[in-house]
Amino acid sequence: MIEDYFGRRILVPIVDMPKTLPAKIKVLPTMKVAKSTIICQRCGARISLSAAALPNHEFYCPICLNLGRVDTLSKFYHVAEPNQFCPPYPQLIWQGQLSLLQEQVAKEVQVSMCHHERRLIWAVTGAGKTEMMFKGLAERLQQGERIAWASPRVDVCLEIYPRLKKAFKNCEIALLYGKAQEPYHYRQLTVCTTHQLLRFYHAFDNLIIDEVDAFPFATNPQLYFAAQNAVKPDGGMTFLTATPGKALLQSVKRGQLQVSYLPLRYHGHLLPVPRVELTLNWRLQLQKGHLPPKVRQTLQHELATGQRFLLFVPHVKDLPAVKLALHNDLETMDFATVYASDPKRLEKVQAMRDQKYFFWLRRQFWNAALRFQKLMS
Ligand SMILES: [Zn+2]
Repeated sequence: MIEDYFGRRILVPIVDMPKTLPAKIKVLPTMKVAKSTIICQRCGARISLSAAALPNHEFYCPICLNLGRVDTLSKFYHVAEPNQFCPPYPQLIWQGQLSLLQEQVAKEVQVSMCHHERRLIWAVTGAGKTEMMFKGLAERLQQGERIAWASPRVDVCLEIYPRLKKAFKNCEIALLYGKAQEPYHYRQLTVCTTHQLLRFYHAFDNLIIDEVDAFPFATNPQLYFAAQNAVKPDGGMTFLTATPGKALLQSVKRGQLQVSYLPLRYHGHLLPVPRVELTLNWRLQLQKGHLPPKVRQTLQHELATGQRFLLFVPHVKDLPAVKLALHNDLETMDFATVYASDPKRLEKVQAMRDQKYFFWLRRQFWNAALRFQKLMS
């Protein structure tokens, strides 16, 4: 199907390439080979010849190997994105109400996406970031644009997909992630992990990156390169996050990135200010099978008032000891432990959403509001 190549770069071994191809299909190189390095055209990595060497003076990219080997024995097939979508275009049927502040951000998003600008939406968790995107997204889809909603986290993709399906009428969405069962289909709207962006080339008129500061996107220049390539040269990008990192904030300071800031949750209340309490020797107490008294009292209070909560620990290896101590001190097993490479992570996250658990993770967080003030001062 020729549609499979629209805005994509599909690897084809040179030996399998027919002598004549349909005129629309362009054949693009996979590697640039220089004197001492090669540059992978898929992920942008620059690698020394010795690290990339295959027999017979051929080369491959070890950096993006997990998406299938890019090497000098292959080429990319690519067809320029034609935006071949037919009316009726997807229509927003979401009936929810936005608060005044949300409305203001939604308006900024709408203008930004219309002009294909780059904008950071910095909003606390629970501020309703997704709903603030709806109007801008709907308007662009009505204009026949191709759009991707990408996230470094597969669980974000799995959560956003049904919400978008519900919010829009006449909207078929491609959902792409590493373990996805469905084959690829050409769609006006794509929800995918940021890794999948490596397969696109100048495809999207607007690209939204949700939780842009999550691992691995924030620490992986190849994924950033992929995002830049996935969007059309004149396309727009919108970054969503509660905790923007240094690079994004520097882009804001330099005026390369517009910013919308929302410190309020959807019900209009400010986030509670965290209170710091120091507990010394907590690992020692855990070794005896118990939580530190302060932690125990806090958690007992949360449970007594029916509050669900997340408990963060510094390392994955702390999880078994904390689990045992929780069991001993709180006499409940209605919780689960989870960590980034937990094979049952997706099931556990869903169980938490279904209110079957409270559970803990190992990530850290910090006070976004203080950092915003610092940036703007
Ligand atoms: Zn590569």
